[in-house]
Amino acid sequence: MDLLEHQGKALFAGAGLPVLPSRLAFSPAEARAAAGELRLPVVVKAQVKTGGRGKAGGIRVCATEGEVAAAAADILGMTIRGHGVESLLVEQAVEIAREMYLAISVSRELRGPLLIFAREGGVDIEELAQREPGALVRRPIDALLGLLEYQVRDVVDAAAFDPEGPGGAEAGRALAAVARALWKLYQDHDATLVEVNPLVLTTGGEVVCLDSKVTVDDNAFYRQPDVTPDEPADEREAKAREAGLAFVPLDGDIGVVGNGAGLVMSTIDQIATAGGRAADFCDIGGGARSEVATAALEAIFAGPPVGAVLVNIFGGITRCEEVAQGLVEAITRAKVSAPVVVRLDGNAAEEGHAVLRTADLPNVTLALDPEEAVRLAVDIAHERAGGVAAGAPGES
Ligand code: GDP
Ligand code: MN
Repeated sequence: MDLLEHQGKALFAGAGLPVLPSRLAFSPAEARAAAGELRLPVVVKAQVKTGGRGKAGGIRVCATEGEVAAAAADILGMTIRGHGVESLLVEQAVEIAREMYLAISVSRELRGPLLIFAREGGVDIEELAQREPGALVRRPIDALLGLLEYQVRDVVDAAAFDPEGPGGAEAGRALAAVARALWKLYQDHDATLVEVNPLVLTTGGEVVCLDSKVTVDDNAFYRQPDVTPDEPADEREAKAREAGLAFVPLDGDIGVVGNGAGLVMSTIDQIATAGGRAADFCDIGGGARSEVATAALEAIFAGPPVGAVLVNIFGGITRCEEVAQGLVEAITRAKVSAPVVVRLDGNAAEEGHAVLRTADLPNVTLALDPEEAVRLAVDIAHERAGGVAAGAPGES
């Protein structure tokens, strides 16, 4: 799960990373009051789980309390890359001498943590990596040995602070401390990403984390008391999560159920290629019992009407028979008529097919392979959508 900037900064502060005094606000009045508690000027920052807030106008430096209230009113109404702004961070402003970039993330390629530093940050780091790959310092971290002192020194060397400039030799020591603390935070909080962009050197010679981006591994929530999982958006999501289902509502018209996020995502991809659009993402996970399959269909049927549901299961630990029983249970109990296309393969697939045949539900279609399943689901959904559209005038 991605954290909001202020949540990340709370972890930063706890880990001894340098952050500026700030307050969270939900209204222009609260923002104004927050500014009153801080020293002007302050920066008003949209709290949304996406980058590029600066470019989108979601970050404003304000010199007076009146400006803060006005900026807050503007920013609270904004939608940044599809994310509505519901809260603001009002933070002490600083004068920036240099913006840098520092991050630790899981590298799939290296199968371990990777530290990345850039002397010039604040910009789009992907763009910098393309334009000038040499500008990035990349150091793989051995997960057992941890961040090593010579790697910390590499970062400080790459920063090449001017000994006569802001902070002097102290700036290098401060940067080294930030790198060490960031690594500790990454480990202690089971993060998959900790990013500071920009990490700044102020004209006063301080090294400060001006932004924070933290992603915590969802599988570690149980041992991360400081990290509160996002509130489910609605009751449908809450119920799905309770049942052990990874559920994401989407805005198409084909509900998708699968075991394993990879399988569900590739199914959604195949649906898109075939000209359809997924309505929901339901990952029943590995070794799922029938109740989870039931919960998946119930979650889909509790949402806006769908044209079809596609169930794509490749049984490894998961027994297809269990899934089939869950599907039958949900369909009979919910008395739904939406067409359900089912592909079962792997562990106990034959038994699963037998369960579905015995139940003999009129709206269930068995597909032999994933390609056929996708094609059927997309065709059925199109037909039903077309039927509704064509059925408007004249018919009846
Ligand atoms: P992002 O655009 O979503 O990554 O948001 P950031 O928190 O990184 O802020 C974007 C930019 O706003 C930074 O790169 C800075 O240039 C600027 N900014 C943020 N805080 C301050 C501040 O305290 N003082 C000044 N002068 N600029 C700031
Ligand atoms: Mn940033």
